[in-house]
Amino acid sequence: MLAKNGGTPVRTKPWVPPFISTEEFNEIEREHVLNVLQKKRVFRFYDKGLEESEAARLEQMYRGRTNTSYGLAVNSGTSALVSALVGAGIGPGDEVIVPAYTYIATAAAVLIARAVPVIVEIDDTLTMDPSAFEAAITSYTKAVIPVHMRGTPCQMDEILEIARRHQLVVIEDVAQANGGSYKGRPLGGFGEAGCFSFQQYKVVTSGEGGMMVTNIPELHARASVYHDCAVSFWGVEPSTKVESFAGENYRMSEIQAALGLAQSGKIDSVVGRLHSVKKKIIDGIQSVGGIQLQRVPDPDGDVSYSLVFYLPDGEKASKFSELLAAEGIPNGTIHNNGFADRHIYVNWDYVLEKRGSTPNDTPWNCASYKGNVQYSKDMCPRSLELLGRAVSVALHQSMTEEDCQDAIDAIKKVAEHSFVVKNATD
Ligand SMILES: *Cc1c(COP(=O)(O)O)cnc(C)c1O
Repeated sequence: MLAKNGGTPVRTKPWVPPFISTEEFNEIEREHVLNVLQKKRVFRFYDKGLEESEAARLEQMYRGRTNTSYGLAVNSGTSALVSALVGAGIGPGDEVIVPAYTYIATAAAVLIARAVPVIVEIDDTLTMDPSAFEAAITSYTKAVIPVHMRGTPCQMDEILEIARRHQLVVIEDVAQANGGSYKGRPLGGFGEAGCFSFQQYKVVTSGEGGMMVTNIPELHARASVYHDCAVSFWGVEPSTKVESFAGENYRMSEIQAALGLAQSGKIDSVVGRLHSVKKKIIDGIQSVGGIQLQRVPDPDGDVSYSLVFYLPDGEKASKFSELLAAEGIPNGTIHNNGFADRHIYVNWDYVLEKRGSTPNDTPWNCASYKGNVQYSKDMCPRSLELLGRAVSVALHQSMTEEDCQDAIDAIKKVAEHSFVVKNATD
């Protein structure tokens, strides 16, 4: 009998820890951070020991991981995106295409660069629909930001092909997919720039932090200028000479960089464990009737901390979600789960209402912008429909054989007992 109706739940033990990153903390992180304290060198650009700075080593590591020539350590994933956009010369008058399902920071970064975000539909991969991307291109479009949401690699072949044909800059948002790949190549190295976040909810953390990688010297040099309004004074060799302009302060501290180095050394091990966990569960629920697994463009490159499947409609998804939770497997429908999820465009209030920090000269009403982008809560119905009938279960690298089996058994049990199977049309 279903636990909801008084039966024994499949699982009574607590589910997985909430964080991937911090669960890996051990003496390696401690040593790296303590070493910085011992060196008494916490400012990245202090001229003594500049070459061996932790931030420089972190950049080197990400260049290596993504096969790119330049890295820029910054203080957040948002800063990495802004630096990439400004680095690519994107600003007032330009449109940048973003998916309807991404953390609000992706759209905010476009606005901070004073460009206009254009929101497009996702498809059943939960990432940008390439045909929606192409349909949204106007004469003002300068860039596209494919977002590898929940560790799922985007359909990069299609996106790159469209972008090349229209001569658009591609900035990959890898904030949620550090360690992922697409057709054997690491995410972050496909477009003109790749942007990572090291915030606690991501695969690895430095407390706060981010990284931008690129192969383009001008993009890197301009991003460096923007990430530090005084960068040219620190005695660092620029990747190429560019004219200076006012920037912010997005610098990463040496403590963050040291933590980032310790954590990033573990990515492949963490992703390897996640991969085998997800594979086990997928194998176990592959043939369960009534549910349809999320389409993943390259399952081998999936970071694999998120299990998503679709029910035929939102009502069935809510019911399934509730029954599964009662069996001891916490989960959620992605849309309409009772709170304003800031990963879904309908909740990006300042974007939809075109609100700047002051009413004058916002990216939308400034003289340089000649386009006429429109937003509304129902502009991406397909995305809302998909998110509304998606059920997600968080996976963790610490999951044992037994944990995986519990997830399989609970999903099977709910699918078999509930009305879902009987009413399913496919
Ligand atoms: C977390 C996140 C960001 C922003 O990273 P911060 O480090 O929090 O600034 C950007 N895009 C996506 C998809 C994210 O998940």
